[in-house]
Amino acid sequence: MAEQVVIIGSGPAGWSAAIYAARAELKPLVFEGAITEENRLAGTLPLGQLALTTEVENYAGFPAGDLKGFLESAIDPERFQYMFVHEGKHAVTGPELMELMRQQAVNFGTRIVTDDIVGVELQQRPFRLRLLGGETIETHALILATGARANYLGLPSEETYKNRGVSACAVCDGALPRFRNKPLIVVGGGDSAVEEATYLTKYASKVHLIHRRDKLRASKIMQERATNDPKIQIEWNHTLEEVLGNDKEGVTGVRLRSTVEDATRELPASGVFLAIGHTPNTAFLKGQIALTEKGYIQWSQPFRTTTSVEGVFAAGDAADDHYRQAITSAGTGCMAALDAERWLAAQGIH
Ligand code: NAP
Repeated sequence: MAEQVVIIGSGPAGWSAAIYAARAELKPLVFEGAITEENRLAGTLPLGQLALTTEVENYAGFPAGDLKGFLESAIDPERFQYMFVHEGKHAVTGPELMELMRQQAVNFGTRIVTDDIVGVELQQRPFRLRLLGGETIETHALILATGARANYLGLPSEETYKNRGVSACAVCDGALPRFRNKPLIVVGGGDSAVEEATYLTKYASKVHLIHRRDKLRASKIMQERATNDPKIQIEWNHTLEEVLGNDKEGVTGVRLRSTVEDATRELPASGVFLAIGHTPNTAFLKGQIALTEKGYIQWSQPFRTTTSVEGVFAAGDAADDHYRQAITSAGTGCMAALDAERWLAAQGIH
């Protein structure tokens, strides 16, 4: 028998959609993603981008405080292995927040499958979804909440030093002790790169912004911010050729390559932050639903989570390359569940 609603994705959008759908008695089934080496390397393991961050200080409702007792009472002890729990007073961490949302969805009857959906057939009804192992399931309504992942350059040295100085999120990791009062590298020339560089000046002795051209892509105001900040030095016309480091210290520097002459040079640094854009996790949807040029799912109406296929709704970063916040994703997840519920009711399915 077909499911009433399937939710693909396990970030704030997926869990918020599940909480609302479960409370509406839609018995949602969530595909939270598979635990595979491929997903680990791509940054698409269950619980999404927040599972890769440390403290989340801007999610409303979670001021810094001692969450230990609450976490122990709210969450199954078996799930503690997935959480990054600090002792003492702190803001909620990304993994803690995701475990709390996951548990809240479970509490209302959400069923969870730890697997990927790798293909969809949206031209038929009910919709058919294909799992990693080849099995298929059917659903009347579908909520897509597969999120996005930060782009990396694909250098082997970048991979070697991930979590030991290489990051794609200054706001998540910038305050770590290893980055304090040390030179840091940001790669990219867009708004994110400038935003990350500016943010890192709080901690770094100097921030080198590495850009492959001689003009920033960032908006004018952000360009001015970068050029006027005495702590930011823009290294024009350079790409990152290699992250340098060792087992003991992690990242110790970078080697840059000029894009205008045949030359390389090295800079000392204790951290490298990639800000070269994000890729939505929507490859499995190609040809089935309208995507934007950059591959984001297209919402078909303003302030609705409807898509080009009736009965398919999109939430979170998979459809949003503008706000990209945990709280906005959670908001659109809630909207998608409400939209799905109304649509199912109108079809006489619910
Ligand atoms: P983006 O605008 O696409 O910029 C990506 C930057 O990375 C570009 O400068 C690009 O260089 C560079 N880049 C891409 N691939 C690279 C590679 N392989 N090697 C070296 N450099 C590479 O992405 P974004 O900065 O993440 O911004 C995404 C969207 O969010 C934008 O619409 C932006 O305005 C918005 N945003 C807004 C704010 C804000 O308003 N505060 C903050 C963050 C993001 P080229 O320039 O040479 O292509």
